[in-house]
Amino acid sequence: MIDLKNLTIEKAHEMMQKKKLTSVELVSACLKNIQEKNKELNIFLEIFDDALEQAKKADEIIKSGKGTKLTGIPIAIKDNMLITGRKTSSASKMLENYTASYDAFVIKKLKEVGAVLIGRTNMDEFAMGSSTENSVYGPVKNPIDPTRVPGGSSGGSAAAVAADMALGALGSDTGSSIRQPASLCGVVGMKPTYGVVSRFGITAMASSLDQVGPIAKTSKDAKIIFDCISGKDEMDSTSVNFLDFKVSPNKKAIGVPRDFLKEGVDPEVLKNFEESLEKLKKIGYAVKDIKMPSLEYSLPVYYIIMPAEVSTNLARLDGMRYGLRKDGIDMFDTFKKSRSAGFGPETRRRMILGAYVLSHGYYDAYYNKAWKLRHVIEKEFASVFKDVDFVVIPTAPTPAFKFGDKKSPLDMYLCDIFTTPANIAGLPAISVPSGFSIKGLPFGFQFNGPIFSDEAVFEIGKKFEEIRDMV
Ligand code: GLN
Repeated sequence: MIDLKNLTIEKAHEMMQKKKLTSVELVSACLKNIQEKNKELNIFLEIFDDALEQAKKADEIIKSGKGTKLTGIPIAIKDNMLITGRKTSSASKMLENYTASYDAFVIKKLKEVGAVLIGRTNMDEFAMGSSTENSVYGPVKNPIDPTRVPGGSSGGSAAAVAADMALGALGSDTGSSIRQPASLCGVVGMKPTYGVVSRFGITAMASSLDQVGPIAKTSKDAKIIFDCISGKDEMDSTSVNFLDFKVSPNKKAIGVPRDFLKEGVDPEVLKNFEESLEKLKKIGYAVKDIKMPSLEYSLPVYYIIMPAEVSTNLARLDGMRYGLRKDGIDMFDTFKKSRSAGFGPETRRRMILGAYVLSHGYYDAYYNKAWKLRHVIEKEFASVFKDVDFVVIPTAPTPAFKFGDKKSPLDMYLCDIFTTPANIAGLPAISVPSGFSIKGLPFGFQFNGPIFSDEAVFEIGKKFEEIRDMV
């Protein structure tokens, strides 16, 4: 029997090297687990029929001595990443029958090292949401407590790791979607510096904010996935090789923007956050209160820039080029019918909002102002990073909530309050499990690092895990 619960990528790799485990055994164990639990939890939209075939090939690579740390490791893929010949629906009716004709850069990278792509995971439609309740295929249930949401939009990917259906997963994070579900499911999620991981072959949500990143049980495991998927890609003009710009902060100081933590935060989250700060002090970090008055504007700035980009990115889905088509009496009627039938309510809301903030007369009042504020937030971060290595904030204001709990879109948007700053400023940020509520629900502690400090962010995540269970 394989002890999937306690198996990390690191351990599985070691066991495979020592011939104590094969990829076929490991993938079979995950598939069995998926078979038993997926009906209830709704994590995977598709299990890849060639998963065992991939595992066999991986075992050959390992035997030949050419394996890397990810060879033979089952990885779950969010349903917005293109895999040649496979469906990529972004959990939308619009792309229900869309089959990818090429591999996303990150998929190409995983395939090159012989990682096993085990299946595609459920998500909020076009990555818009914080609970997976916007998926056209129904929500994912949190494996820790199935009466609660797993977070979103990469809820399926985080839940897949938490439920031991894969040892790692890929998610995408535009405003929260890797870190917040990781926090709610009790796993590690990391959003890299903007541009460090190529967006080529990822269904775009908001292009100036989207980043692909890893979800895993530990920071070390997340780093193993990151090392594989990062790197310069000619197909994405914003892509950079982060090693060329690597930043290694070493002031041994951590900044806490206390004014930002005042409102609407669950007292248990705050208590856990304070306890985590104490632990960091014990390992020699100075914990400093910092002033970041513009941080509170991250959420409103996000909810202007993001819908603006959503409205332009999703304009291409009109029933003419690809995706769902409903014939109308003329071209515009076809657009209208196809888009009305293909998009869910939240996606429509954001496209309308985006068109509004970009429209003549409102562009200056909303969109331009938001961009100006975006620069202010970036500068504020750059300035505090002169004094501290990381800015720390809880990942989410509450632990996992019940289905239907968030009654209005605004309530749902508030889930992103602590995660949007990193996207607005393009920073790397990691969410690491930091303990449990009285009800046994996981908390996440978030480190935001300076641009291109991705390696340091993984490193502090690892250190935090080492001291987390100290009393
Ligand atoms: N929850 C946020 C939203 O709904 C972020 C989503 C994401 O990061 N993809 O926009």
